[in-house]
Amino acid sequence: MPISAKTKICLIIGDPIEHSLSPLIHNAAYKALGIEEKFVFVAARVKIENLAFVVKAVRVMGIRGLTCTMPHKVKIVKYLDKIDEIAKEIGAVNTVVNENGKLKGYNTDWIGAKEAIKKVTKIRGKKVGIIGAGGAARAIAFAMKKEGAQIKIFNRDLKEAKKLAKKYECSFGSFENLDELKDFDIIINATPLGMGPYKNISPVKKEIFSEKHVVLDSVYIPFKTKMLKEAEEKGAKIIPGIEMLLYQAVPQFTLYTKRKPPIEAMRKAVEEFFKNEKEI
Ligand code: NAP
Repeated sequence: MPISAKTKICLIIGDPIEHSLSPLIHNAAYKALGIEEKFVFVAARVKIENLAFVVKAVRVMGIRGLTCTMPHKVKIVKYLDKIDEIAKEIGAVNTVVNENGKLKGYNTDWIGAKEAIKKVTKIRGKKVGIIGAGGAARAIAFAMKKEGAQIKIFNRDLKEAKKLAKKYECSFGSFENLDELKDFDIIINATPLGMGPYKNISPVKKEIFSEKHVVLDSVYIPFKTKMLKEAEEKGAKIIPGIEMLLYQAVPQFTLYTKRKPPIEAMRKAVEEFFKNEKEI
């Protein structure tokens, strides 16, 4: 059956957006379940000053799901009717479900980070350095705290690092303190450094990494960022950002479709994509 007037729309918004693999993952999942006539997942570049118009459009057009990526995850909160308790605690929403015109916000990024890391290492009791203090970092900090890690937040804007650190009763520092990561167990980049115009930048110096580290980069295009390549060369265990994206898409898929996600099909879609990846 082709897409019809009954097909429900799910939409991801961000700025930039062209790199997003969410449409690929969700559409592959619809296809695997044979529900591609019921749902379609598309993307739109939306500037932050236009966010309120988009939220209105979601309501009036009956768009089923709204996924938010950088820079909308924090600002979207004030436009919604209800916020799930965890998203409220995190202070950022990446998943909005439209139930008959009422918009409820959720956060699935924290699940993405937690599951991606737990596949590789235990989190409890580990020293975790989080680089960034925006939407992704907030979700990651929540997940790491919940799992019993000892956290430190490193951010360019020290005020933002301090705010986040206060919330989770942890320490904080600026980019000048990043060499401290040498003594940490898990290092997570939650900034856009490594993608787009920052493709050739790693927030952490190569000599800081060693075999003791597990390193997650939230950036997923390219598959292996400069930071991940250098960490791997120094013997660290690396977790590409696509793992976090996949594991956050799993609960998000269920929120939008009320169906069990076909995880293998979702993973296969991204594996195919990266097999054919040219320079992005
Ligand atoms: P955000 O809310 O806009 O926060 C951006 C963060 O990055 C802030 O801490 C900001 O620091 C920092 N930053 C921005 N530009 C920087 C630069 N040039 N140098 C140093 N720091 C810089 O964005 P977000 O939603 O947290 O997203 C951050 C990254 O995570 C993006 O690349 C996004 O694609 C990725 N992400 C991936 C997943 C996944 O599933 N893999 C999920 C969520 C996000 P200041 O406070 O100093 O401005």
